[in-house]
Formats: sequence, C-alpha cells, structure tokens
Amino acid sequence: MSDASPPAVTHFIRRIIEEDLASRKHPRIVTRFPPEPNGYLHIGHAKSIFLNFGMAGDFGGDCNLRFDDTNPEKEEAEYAQAIEEDVHWLGYEWHALCHASDYFEQLHDYALELIRRGHAYVDSQDSETIRSTRGTLTEPGINSPYRDRSVEENLDLFARMRAGEFKEGAHVLRARIDMGAENINMRDPVLYRIRHQQHHRTGDTWSIYPMYDFTHCLSDAIEGVTHSLCTLEFEDHRPLYDWILDHLDPPCHPQQIEFSRLSLEYTVVSKRQLQKLIAAGHVEGWDDPRLPTLRALRRRGYTPESIREFCRAIGVTKKDSRISMNVLEDSIRDALNRSAPRLMAVLDPVRVILTNYPEDQSELLEAPNHPQDESMGTRQVPFGRELYIERSDFMEDPPKKFFRLAPGHEVRLRYAYFITCQEVERDANGEIVALRCTYDPETRGGNAPDGRKVRGTLHWVAADSAVPAQMRLYDRLFKVPEPASEPELTAALNENSCIEMERCLVEPEIHELPPRTRIQFERQGYFCQDYDSSPEQLIFNRTASLRDTWEKIRKRD
Ligand code: ATP
Ligand code: MG
Repeated sequence: MSDASPPAVTHFIRRIIEEDLASRKHPRIVTRFPPEPNGYLHIGHAKSIFLNFGMAGDFGGDCNLRFDDTNPEKEEAEYAQAIEEDVHWLGYEWHALCHASDYFEQLHDYALELIRRGHAYVDSQDSETIRSTRGTLTEPGINSPYRDRSVEENLDLFARMRAGEFKEGAHVLRARIDMGAENINMRDPVLYRIRHQQHHRTGDTWSIYPMYDFTHCLSDAIEGVTHSLCTLEFEDHRPLYDWILDHLDPPCHPQQIEFSRLSLEYTVVSKRQLQKLIAAGHVEGWDDPRLPTLRALRRRGYTPESIREFCRAIGVTKKDSRISMNVLEDSIRDALNRSAPRLMAVLDPVRVILTNYPEDQSELLEAPNHPQDESMGTRQVPFGRELYIERSDFMEDPPKKFFRLAPGHEVRLRYAYFITCQEVERDANGEIVALRCTYDPETRGGNAPDGRKVRGTLHWVAADSAVPAQMRLYDRLFKVPEPASEPELTAALNENSCIEMERCLVEPEIHELPPRTRIQFERQGYFCQDYDSSPEQLIFNRTASLRDTWEKIRKRD
C-alpha cells in the first residue's frame, strides 16, 4: 500500500520472508488468498488478506486471489463476485485472479502420475467403510483390500471414474501412504471422489473432483507461490501438503506456514455460523450491520483503513487468542475521531422553550466542524426560541453529580447560550411536554462575560429547522464473549443488538454533506447514513459509540 501506513509490525512470518529474501532462497515472494466462494468474507478473512497481500506488497512480490472452488455443490458465482469486490474495497489489487477449477486438467494429470508411480490407488470401499477403517488417535488404520491394485487397473478405473461410468461413492482415488501413520491425515487420504454435479465454472465436464488437500498444494505450486500462509487447523495437514509435492515433480515446492485464526469476542467468525443466523432470520442478511462480515462493517460505517489498522494492531502469531471487540471498535473510533465532522443530533428529543427569547427571532451561531482540526472549518447552526435537547439530559429530581439540566440548574447549550430550567410543563397524563427555560443573552457563544461556570454542556437542535431521522443503534450481536461455545448459539443473542430510534432530529447542515459522510453526532457516537437512507427519510447507522463518560461517573459513585 502506498498510503502513509504506520510502521510495519514484525512477526514470525515477516521474519521468515525476510530471511528467505536475504538468503536468495526466493528472489521474489508470491502469496495467495484462497477463499472458498461459499459465503461472504468476514473480519477473519481480513486478517488473512491483510497478511497475504500485505507481505507481497511490503516485499515487492505478488499476491493472487484464488478461488478454492473444488466443491461443485457449494460454490455460487454471487459469492465469488462479492469476494472480489470486498478485496478491492479493503484496498488490495491481486496479481492474478485464479480458480482452482482452472487447474482441474493439470491436477488430473498429476493424479495420473501419482498412480503411475504407485503412490495412489482406486479404492472401491464405500465411504462408511473408509471412515471406519481409518483407525483412531490410538489405533492404526486398516489397509483397504484394494490397496495393492496394479497400476494398470488403477489407471483404467480412474479413467472410467472420470468418464462418468460409476455412481457417486462407488470408488475414490486415495494416496498410498501409510495406514499406520501417527498423523491420521497421512492414512491413505482420499484425493478424488465422484460427483455428478454441475460445477459453476466447468459445467458438466467433470465427474470427479479433487479434494482440498490434493488441490491446494498443487495449485500453490502451479502459481509459483513461495509462502502458503494458512490457519493453524492446517498444521496437521502440512505433512500431506509436503508429501504430495515430494512425490510429484511440480514447478516448485511452496512452504506452508500456519498462523492463528482470528476470533473476536461477542460475535462469530465462521461462514457456517453466520449462514445459520441469516437463514433463521436472526439478522437481515450478510450485510446486516451487526455481523462481522466486511459487507456489514462497511454498511455500518467502517472504513477500509480502519480494518487494515485493526489487522495491523492484532498482529500475527501461532497462539490462538480471542480479540476483544474494543480493539475493532477502537480502530474505527480512532480514525473517525480524527476525521469525522461533528454535528449535533438529538436522538430522544424533549422540547425546550426559551421564555425570554423574542417570539419572532432566530439567529445563526458559528460552530467548529472539528474541535481540534481547524482546517475542517466552521458551520452556521440555527438557533431560536424553541429547541430540542436529549431527554436523558434532563432530570426533574437529579442525584448529586448530575450536572445536566434540572429545575434551577444552569447549563450551556453547546456553541449557543447558558440556559436555566424554570418550569416543567406536563400534559394530562403527566408526560413532559416542554421544559420552560430562560436563556442569558450575555452568554452568546457559550461563555459568560462575568466568568461564571457551568458544569454541563448539552447538544441541541432548533425546532423549526431540525431534520427528522431514524437512527439505528447497534450493539454487540451476542450477550456472551464466546457465543460459539454456547450449547445453543441463538440463545446467546443480544436482543438489544439493534435499537431503532424513530424520532431523532439532526441539525440541517446534514443536507450539505455527501450522503456516506461519516459523522460524529456530538456526545452520541459515530454515524453514517444507511444504504436505505434518502434525503426524504434519513436513516443513520451508529458505527461506534463514544466512550461514555456518564457511565464511568456512575460506576465511580
Ligand atoms: P469459515 O470457517 O468462515 O468458513 P474458512 O477458513 O472455511 O472460514 P475460506 O474461504 O476457506 O474460509 O478461507 C479463506 C482463507 O481465509 C483461508 O486461508 C483461511 O485460512 C482464512 N481465514 C478464514 N477465517 C479466518 C480467520 N478467522 N482468521 C484468519 N484467517 C481466516
Ligand atoms: Mg473453508
């Protein structure tokens, strides 16, 4: 990446690459990001993308986007398209766009070669028998009665498997390694199986499909990958990765290096589990802003920079650990704290009437768009006799440290005036209709010429110019930090993960900003217009809350 990124964090994979370049083991590195197109990308994938594309970028190498599309039942073109878009959105450009299915012919040739060399055989046991004769961690497996078929017989059967002569499950191709191997992955793993299925790219050309372990190492080798970075669950597959390459003559022998998966508190990062939540209607789709998919984070208001910053911050290790949700939230908070223009919005409005403000008067007050960054300029905020403030900023009978509005309390309306609450007006049901207040005309701009201080500063909007809006306040999707280990995933869902506020009011400046501008509504958090928002019906997603100082005070008391 050419932007002014913070200094690179070193980690064991970076060091391996540095050594390999220094020793000229590789003059240039090649990596790949290999998603299976069976769902949308999530924040876990972002870690892998950041690592694979990041290493290639940092060391002047190449990174391919390779669809691991060997499974004809599952893949869908829709997902592939979305994956490409998401990788681009994150800020990366692949060297080559590849598909494992492009290599089906070559992979088939490699399979023939393994058979010819006596390293693979056609097994005609059914899948249940193959599973049950694999042995356990403590017991070796049992050789298949078909293990010693002749090369000719194997070649003949494999050709007929390819030609579609057999039913699914009638035969498989297996590597001939060692049924007594300590590592179960080495006990004659299945390399090919029969599937009479349409493949979304190769149609009905094939009746046999290669398994992941056979496909992956050879695809890496075909593409000249130098460092094949994958997650820790493939550590036990590495001997097989190496075995296949060692028993053939591929163009090169990539090095598989494993790192720990990202897991994030209060959410799930597994396509399968995400799919379940979507299918059961607990969320609205892959881009529901409560999900950790890249689509959802983007809709919610996350920037690609903030996600890259998150990936940089969490680093790369071999130790499994769960990352606190705050780390992700802080990545966007820190970015938006610097860049988001400030506006005022009242989410749960209560009316304020300034009884001593002239009936026919209104005025414009100047407010900075950013408290620290003067280059962001100022704006004019309309002010008048009738205003709205946040309901939670008023208490009729407040506790001692409540510095906001209460009968007899004087507070500052931000960028405006000091006001004092004189009277609470209620309707017949006892609901508050308005707070009748007086303002001090001497305090224009928010300071008293006599130097008197107020402890509370409130945000507000003027009644006659405020723009109505809906706000969606998102919170964690689950109530527990480790939902995936709950007996029932859905029982751990947080029923308050989205609170829709229907009667919010925003200062009119909102219409001057491009629709997807990420904004800080002062004292509320960072917001961004939803895709469903329109100038007639504004809808905002809360990207992240601010750290809530009132909460802290309450805890301290
Ligand atoms: P899921 O469990 O969500 O289905 P997956 O590993 O099956 O994930 P793939 O599409 O096969 O998903 O993954 C593509 C790449 O992304 C792989 O190299 C995989 O290791 C990596 N990846 C997936 N999830 C994570 C994660 N949580 N942390 C880091 N890397 C991940
Ligand atoms: Mg997978």
